[in-house]
Amino acid sequence: MKIVLASGNPGKAREVRAALEGVEVELLLPAEAGFEFDVEETGSTYAENALIKARAACEASGLPALADDSGVEVYALPGELGVRSARFGGEGLDDSGRNALLVDRMREVPEADRGARYVCVLAYAKPDGWFGFFEGALHGRILRAPQGEDGFGYDPLMYLPDHGCAVSELPLGVKNRISHRGLALAEFRAWLARETADGA
Ligand code: IMP
Repeated sequence: MKIVLASGNPGKAREVRAALEGVEVELLLPAEAGFEFDVEETGSTYAENALIKARAACEASGLPALADDSGVEVYALPGELGVRSARFGGEGLDDSGRNALLVDRMREVPEADRGARYVCVLAYAKPDGWFGFFEGALHGRILRAPQGEDGFGYDPLMYLPDHGCAVSELPLGVKNRISHRGLALAEFRAWLARETADGA
């Protein structure tokens, strides 16, 4: 069975392919399925945005489509990041600019109130109109200064008490196993394995 990934990001495709290894599916990027993917994320929740993307890719390709939406929720700054995490501080900032702004906005916040979580919602849309969601979260707290070299986005500021380090200090294999996206993909994989075994 072919599934199209509603994303132009080859890095994401590698991650999804790795997560789905062993399941009888071929994952295609939009270009491989013969269409250009350019969809505005106009939803106010992760689920809405993921479904907008999955449905658009499904309609354009005629194939079942998978899309993700994710973000970081910083409890001391309610509503400021979340679905808008990539645009925190405005369109002009890059990852390190957004991290510098977050450090600054959290300067007066005491240790006990620095909790945060990454959230990922995957939406899967089928040509017959069926859709479903798969979710994952990773809990941590926001550091006072960036730490570590790996990962992307807010990883240098996301400290994981259970691991004793920032997400950017974890080997990629570990991050992929415990992360919000990794957990959502594991849930999707388990569901898809049953679905393909049933011959649906
Ligand atoms: P999107 O789901 O690709 O739109 O990503 C939303 C934004 O959330 C990213 O630009 C990052 O700022 C943040 N984000 C999502 N997942 C991660 C992660 O694993 N590490 C760091 N930042 C993340």
